[in-house]
Amino acid sequence: MIIIDETQCRKVAERLKIVKVHELFPEHPTREEKRRRADFWFYVVVICHQTGSLQGEIEGKRLRGWDYLSLAAERAYRMDPNLFTAERIWKLHPEELKQLFSDRLDPKTSTLDRIGERLHLLREAALSLLQWYKGDVWELYERCDGSLSGGTGLLNLLSQFEAYRDPLRKKTSLLLMILWASKIWMLKDLEALRFPVDNHLMRVALRTGMVRVEDEGLQGRLKKSGEIRREEEQSIREAVQQAGDLLLATSGRTVFELDTILWQIGRSCCFSEHPPICGPRATVHPCFKRETCSLIRDTDYPCPDACPLDGTCFGSLDETYALLNEPKVETHYY
Ligand code: SF4
Ligand code: SF4
Repeated sequence: MIIIDETQCRKVAERLKIVKVHELFPEHPTREEKRRRADFWFYVVVICHQTGSLQGEIEGKRLRGWDYLSLAAERAYRMDPNLFTAERIWKLHPEELKQLFSDRLDPKTSTLDRIGERLHLLREAALSLLQWYKGDVWELYERCDGSLSGGTGLLNLLSQFEAYRDPLRKKTSLLLMILWASKIWMLKDLEALRFPVDNHLMRVALRTGMVRVEDEGLQGRLKKSGEIRREEEQSIREAVQQAGDLLLATSGRTVFELDTILWQIGRSCCFSEHPPICGPRATVHPCFKRETCSLIRDTDYPCPDACPLDGTCFGSLDETYALLNEPKVETHYY
């Protein structure tokens, strides 16, 4: 059985009030630049799933996952702003994709995996855009006049593309949050956006106790990163999204702010490859991740060498929670 702990959600929301998110995206002054950037983010988010293998050094920065994906794409955009157009993307070859996502544009050294799947999603997105929206993401926005909800709202329109067909809409929420935060699209009903639930968010929700798994067998498998059935993963993921709804309702903050903070906690203090940096484990100073930490990069958190949720989160108080991992399944939804 999976439980959403409302009291714990409220406590987490209260604790997160101390953290403010910086402006993360530059403004684009012209309509033409906004239009190009909408296309750019549409295609970047199409392949934003399970990027754990992606890592390396770009422009002197050691990066992994999303940071690598977005900076490599940015570098490609600066070299060739017309690359992120439907006409070019649907003709992209595997070697070109690998070249874009490699340190020195050498496809042989690319760490991007599942090339066939990513290419298929990119081509399908580009071809569908050409078929229905004159090859232009801006056309979607204009057709629904910036509304998210309803049959002709952006949430529905985006689900026509295979890459954006996750029933919990992780990529859809991520894309719309980016386009809203970078002031490319003005969205009329932002409150219709729900948390984009991915690995990091699930791990944090389970460890904090916002979502609790009462089944001991499943708990044991989560701790060992053992085999998880698809329906178990779906139940946990849905519960995490509902816990996210509670956080939003009690915090009065936007989904963009809360998701950015919790997601950055998941990939910094509460990353899957080392013990969580909180509780008795956080006694070694300074934190070994301080130089590379994206939570302190993207927020004003005055880090005392422990996670912002230290002391509130169950995982900082009880090893049983700290050992939980997110369900690991292969998917292109997140
Ligand atoms: S520097 Fe602070 S916020 Fe970043 S990982 Fe370490 S404890 Fe967490
Ligand atoms: S307090 Fe510890 S267990 Fe809880 S989210 Fe932060 S790092 Fe993870």
